[in-house]
Amino acid sequence: MSNKTYKGKKVAFFTLGCKLNFAETSALARQFEELGFERVRYKDVADVYVVNSCSVTAESDKKSRNMIRGAIRRNPHALMIVTGCYAQLKSEEIALLKGVDYILGSAEKMNMIRYVDNLKKSEEPVVAISGFRKIEKFFPAYSFGDRTRSFLKVQDGCNYFCTYCTIPYARGKSRNDTIANTVAKAGEVVQKGAKEIILTGVNIGDYGRSTGESFIGLLKALDDVKGLERIRISSVEPNLLTDEIIEFVASSKHYMPHFHIPLQSGSNEVLALMKRKYKRELFAERVEKIRSLLPDAFIGVDVIAGTNGETDAFFLDTYNFIRDLDISQLHAFPYSERPGTQALKIPHVVPVPVRKERVQRLIELSERKHRLFCERFLGETRPVLFESEKKQDAISGWTDNYIRVTTDWDKNLANKIYHAKLESIDETGSIKGKIITG
Ligand code: SF4
Repeated sequence: MSNKTYKGKKVAFFTLGCKLNFAETSALARQFEELGFERVRYKDVADVYVVNSCSVTAESDKKSRNMIRGAIRRNPHALMIVTGCYAQLKSEEIALLKGVDYILGSAEKMNMIRYVDNLKKSEEPVVAISGFRKIEKFFPAYSFGDRTRSFLKVQDGCNYFCTYCTIPYARGKSRNDTIANTVAKAGEVVQKGAKEIILTGVNIGDYGRSTGESFIGLLKALDDVKGLERIRISSVEPNLLTDEIIEFVASSKHYMPHFHIPLQSGSNEVLALMKRKYKRELFAERVEKIRSLLPDAFIGVDVIAGTNGETDAFFLDTYNFIRDLDISQLHAFPYSERPGTQALKIPHVVPVPVRKERVQRLIELSERKHRLFCERFLGETRPVLFESEKKQDAISGWTDNYIRVTTDWDKNLANKIYHAKLESIDETGSIKGKIITG
C-alpha cells in the first residue's frame, strides 16, 4: 500500500443490516480519513462509494443492489466497492451489475484500503472472496458517530448453523480478539467521549472461542474501564446467558439492566427443526432469573414466524408461550428462505401471507407488552443518557432500562446522564420526562 494521500478526494458509505456492520463501516471510514479522504453522505457525489451489504433476507439483497446501482448512476466514474454478507454469499449476482469494481468478502472487508490504490476503475469487477471456512482473522472495530453511544465489536462469526441462517456462511467461524485488546479498544472509545458502549458481535456469548478466554471474563474486565459510564450487552443466545452473567450484571457498576435474547420460536418442535440449542423451558428460566435479580430490566426478544414446519398449532404454542412471558418487547420477523440453508429441506412451507399475518399478531402482542412495561415506570425517576440531536425543540435519550425519554431541548443535556422523572406516555408510547438532578 503506497503512502499516497487522497486530499480532496471524497468517499461515501452505505451500510445495511446489523450493528456489527455499522461498527465495521465506522472503522473503515476512519482508515479512509487517515489517508486524506473526506467522508461525504451517500447521496452526494463521491470518488469512492462503499456499500457494506447485508443478506439476512431476500429484501436486504434487493436493497443492497439498489444502493449499488444508485451510486453508479450518481457518478459512473467513481470507484464502486461492495462488501458485507451479500458480497460474501452472492458475489456472482453483484458482478452482473455494470460499474462495480471490487467485491470484497468477509476476509477482505477490513483490508479495503489496499484496493483503492489509484482509484482507477477496472474493466471487470475484481472478486476477492474466500470460502467461509477460511474466514478466520478477527478485525477489531467500533462505531463512533453521535459521540454518545458506540457499538464495540467484541466477537465475529458463528459455529451454530441454525437451519434457517446464512450468517455462519457469510461471516465464518466464531472468533474474537483478546480481552486485553478489547479493553484497550473500549478505552479508545471512552477517550473519544462516548459514555455508553454496546457490546456487539454475531454470537457474543461465544466470546473466547478463539483465545481460550470467556465472555464473563470479558464482561468483568470491561466493567473496570476508566471513564466508561454505561455498558449494554446486545444479543446473547439463551443457552449462553448463564446465571453467572445475570448475577454479574445485577451486581456490576456499569452494566445496564437490559437483555436481548433471541428466542426464535416458543414451540419445542420448531426449535428442534431450527436446530436451536435449547428448549423453551430454559428460555423461561432465563427470564425468571433476570426478573428475580433485576425486576426493572428491559428484556427484548427475537422471534421468527412462519419457518418451514411451523404448523398453526406450533405457532399458537409460540404465541401463548410469549404471551405468558414477562418480557418488554418483541422483534418479530417473517421467515425468509435463504439459499444453501438446511431449513429448505424441511417439509410444510408456510405461505407468505400467513407468515405476515403471524408476524402482525406478534407485533400487536409486543406493542401491548411494551406499553405495559413503560407504564410501570411512570412517576419514577431514572437516569437518562441524553443524545446530542435536537428534534422538534426536544432532546431524547435512553434510560438505564432502555426506555426512550424525551424532554425540552437544552444543549447542556447532550451526551450527559441526568435523572429524569417519567411523567407521561403518549399514544405512540413515547415518554415525556422532567429533569430532576444532574
Ligand atoms: S446463532 Fe444461529 S441464528 Fe444466530 S448467527 Fe448463529 S447460526 Fe445464525
